[in-house]
Amino acid sequence: MTFSTQKMRFWSPEVRELEPYVPGEQPKVTNILKLNTNENPYPPSPQVIEAITTILENQADQLRLYPDSEALSLKQAIAQQQGVDVSEVFVGNGSDEVLAHIFKAFFIQNEPVLSPDISYSFYPVYGQFFQIKTKKIALNENFEVNVKDYVQPNGGIIIANPNAPTSIALELSDIEYLLTHNPDRVVVIDEAYVDFGAMSAVGLVAKYENLMVCQTTSKSRSLAGLRVGFAIAQPHLIAALDAVKNSFNSYPLDRFAIAAATASFKDQAYFETQCQKVIENREALIGQLQALDFHVLPSKANFVFVRHQAIDAKDLASQLREQGIIVRHFNQHRIDQFLRITVGTDQQNMRLVTVLKDIFAHNK
Ligand SMILES: *Cc1c(COP(=O)(O)O)cnc(C)c1O
Repeated sequence: MTFSTQKMRFWSPEVRELEPYVPGEQPKVTNILKLNTNENPYPPSPQVIEAITTILENQADQLRLYPDSEALSLKQAIAQQQGVDVSEVFVGNGSDEVLAHIFKAFFIQNEPVLSPDISYSFYPVYGQFFQIKTKKIALNENFEVNVKDYVQPNGGIIIANPNAPTSIALELSDIEYLLTHNPDRVVVIDEAYVDFGAMSAVGLVAKYENLMVCQTTSKSRSLAGLRVGFAIAQPHLIAALDAVKNSFNSYPLDRFAIAAATASFKDQAYFETQCQKVIENREALIGQLQALDFHVLPSKANFVFVRHQAIDAKDLASQLREQGIIVRHFNQHRIDQFLRITVGTDQQNMRLVTVLKDIFAHNK
């Protein structure tokens, strides 16, 4: 919605200039196959449902009380699952919020923050929001991060691993290279998709005082609707996040979110099984897409990034849409002929492939 200059006079000058992040579409109609926002196609752990039910049935009265502002039970469950100390864990209302606090806490420096030219589109939005200088470093021609390009004066580095929307993962040795070459700046590794086959940098936290790892329950734990993200780093970095959080919103996680996410971290077996299923579905889907002449980037995520020689990507996205399937197209330099497709269940992937075959048959 746009407003007249007359009405806009109430807005802070800074807010008038914002270019906010545009979230992926959440259609209101059912029977749409949503492969556009990298949600998990499977439900969360039954333990999660039980934790929420327990609050509703036995502890609804407690909803009049504020939740634990530290979310200690959740931090303990995360610490145990990740093999770190509770003092090395920070939790927030989705990793988007955690990332916002990270930008505020570490990146307001004289030199620009470095991130790949093709990456999570929220980073530049936070950069603008917090008036942080940013500099985009081009991925190579295979859409890979070349860590040597990041050896230059900077105010910090943020890289998604695996990267989004390219789906390609970095080696831990490359992350160590970034850490050792930037000893006076925080290097943030956004591991939103790490559970689908990449190597996590959490194991490096004890060794590097400038490493901040960020993860989310939204993708691998099927909890996008709960809004729980977390960061892992040495206590001196966590303390900066606590200072920012307690200057903004001291109760970012409600009682449902704390209890449900805690239950999720305690059900390691379910988590591992579900991640494995998504990985298997991804590998099967990649084979089927390649058989349809798609070029598929090597994915370690729960989505694939694909290009087809014969059909324009935006065109294909709208044809899929007409058939009730939504995927993500980015109107962006270098990747405007790609589509990002979330890995679904076997059945959902089958529906996608069937519709694609249909579209290609009609376009012949
Ligand atoms: C999905 C995603 C996030 C945000 O996750 P939430 O926890 O749902 O806010 C952060 N970073 C990347 C790269 C993502 O794809």
